[in-house]
Amino acid sequence: MQPAQPDLYPHARRWRDHQPQYGHLIGSAWRDASAVIGVTAPATGRPLAWLGRGGAAEIDDAVAAARAALAGAWGRSTAAERGRILQAFAALVLSHCERLAWVEAHDTGKPISQARADIRAVARYFQFYGEAADKVHGEVIPYLNDYNVAVVREPLGVTAHITPWNYPAQMFGRTLAPALAMGNAAVLKPAEEACLVCLELGALAVDAGFPAGALNIVTGLGEEAGAALTRHPGIDFVSFTGSPEVGRLVQEAAAIHHIPVVLELGGKSPQVVFADADLDAAATSVCKAITQNAGQTCSAGSRVLVERSVLDPFVGLLAARFGALRIGVPEEDADLGPLINATQQRRVLDFIENAKRDRLPVITQAKVPTQHTNGYFVPPTVFGPVNADNPLVCQEVFGPVLALQVFEGEDEAVALANGTEFGLVAGVWTRDGARQQRLARRIVSGQVFINCYGAGGGVELPFGGTKRSGHGREKGLAALEEVSTTKTVVNYYG
Ligand code: NAD
Repeated sequence: MQPAQPDLYPHARRWRDHQPQYGHLIGSAWRDASAVIGVTAPATGRPLAWLGRGGAAEIDDAVAAARAALAGAWGRSTAAERGRILQAFAALVLSHCERLAWVEAHDTGKPISQARADIRAVARYFQFYGEAADKVHGEVIPYLNDYNVAVVREPLGVTAHITPWNYPAQMFGRTLAPALAMGNAAVLKPAEEACLVCLELGALAVDAGFPAGALNIVTGLGEEAGAALTRHPGIDFVSFTGSPEVGRLVQEAAAIHHIPVVLELGGKSPQVVFADADLDAAATSVCKAITQNAGQTCSAGSRVLVERSVLDPFVGLLAARFGALRIGVPEEDADLGPLINATQQRRVLDFIENAKRDRLPVITQAKVPTQHTNGYFVPPTVFGPVNADNPLVCQEVFGPVLALQVFEGEDEAVALANGTEFGLVAGVWTRDGARQQRLARRIVSGQVFINCYGAGGGVELPFGGTKRSGHGREKGLAALEEVSTTKTVVNYYG
């Protein structure tokens, strides 16, 4: 068994079978895990690390630590002080970028340059919200004579954050930075499949000066630690990113205590390619949008809708892009790596095998290099034309599988684009300016990209779903409103 590199995991509590073993971060101190979960490297199938298998007891302590932080130094901090700590953390993250990127790449299997970009995104989240912290102001409402009415913005209290395995680092930044900037105290339960980087980031957060209890991390299984957190009476808000099924459980649990929830649940995002589009640019974007992170992205462009008159040339361009894809382990820095684990690999391969069994035409299928037989690789595959009722169109595959649909005219394009239960992201490719505007209005989706496909877009852009893709907004200044509330103070001085 190949031992892990100790210098990549300096905050492991101990080593077990040559692999780092982590505890829980509660009140700025590490708590040894009483039970553990084994983590496997997706690119090799080999053991990588051990995580704490926390449950109700650890969640209780983490929520209590967060509550104590609100009653103590963190609760008394000014917005400017909080902003400085967030920015100090951003700088620290950047100074550890290479190490954190390697941790993230080994844990998720993604190419090293993608992992580096993810770590830089974490720093950017904390920089952006650190700078914003002291620029959130209230308002004064001219009401009646002899009254002064101020509307002030306040934190919600203890915020719970449940995150998925596809972007452990990015999700850490996306969900925690706005909550901490507003002065909430947070408890994070990251995904058990991949979250080593969250624990390393948590240790850096302590070094950056977040006071005890401002940020707590309990690892564990969803049905144990996750369920205990969402049901806990001591939390005031939940942010959840993951599957629609678990999203419903989280919302039901939150309803018991009437607390607000932000749900980010994935999609079946279409890219609509009209005959007048720059087909070359569209083909490049369509290929990237479904193969980046091996298709394990909530905003993956998993459907392409092509106008019938350009079907043949577009299919040719698409096949060339998929044929040129490089697939590899993180250090090879290819275009895409493996899926997260054997379960997801089997799930996605089942989609591909079922589609072939149903005689769905394969437009193109890339090849996984033969030396990578132990990792959880899946060949990027394009099927089409696919009917609107096919599982490849209706269900989130969460792998590098693209469904091609054909349309004639704008109305059919809109009907197909809107024809799923999801509404997260859409791409529109056309040179017709008026059509660009019409499509942007008619497509039901949280984000519409025209002649580009930024998936999640930048940190500055509000992001979130409609329909079954969830509700609430992350990123941008909009996220600050989700993790805060207003208080109206009416002062009669007559
Ligand atoms: P999941 O919804 O099961 O897990 C997401 C997070 O929720 C994890 O931290 C998990 O531990 C936690 N969780 C699980 N059960 C819970 C419960 N009962 N109470 C509270 N928390 C709980 O997602 P998954 O199993 O990791 O992936 C399954 C599917 O979800 C994927 O195939 C994909 O379709 C979708 N997914 C979407 C996203 C996204 O970004 N929207 C991310 C990951 C997965």
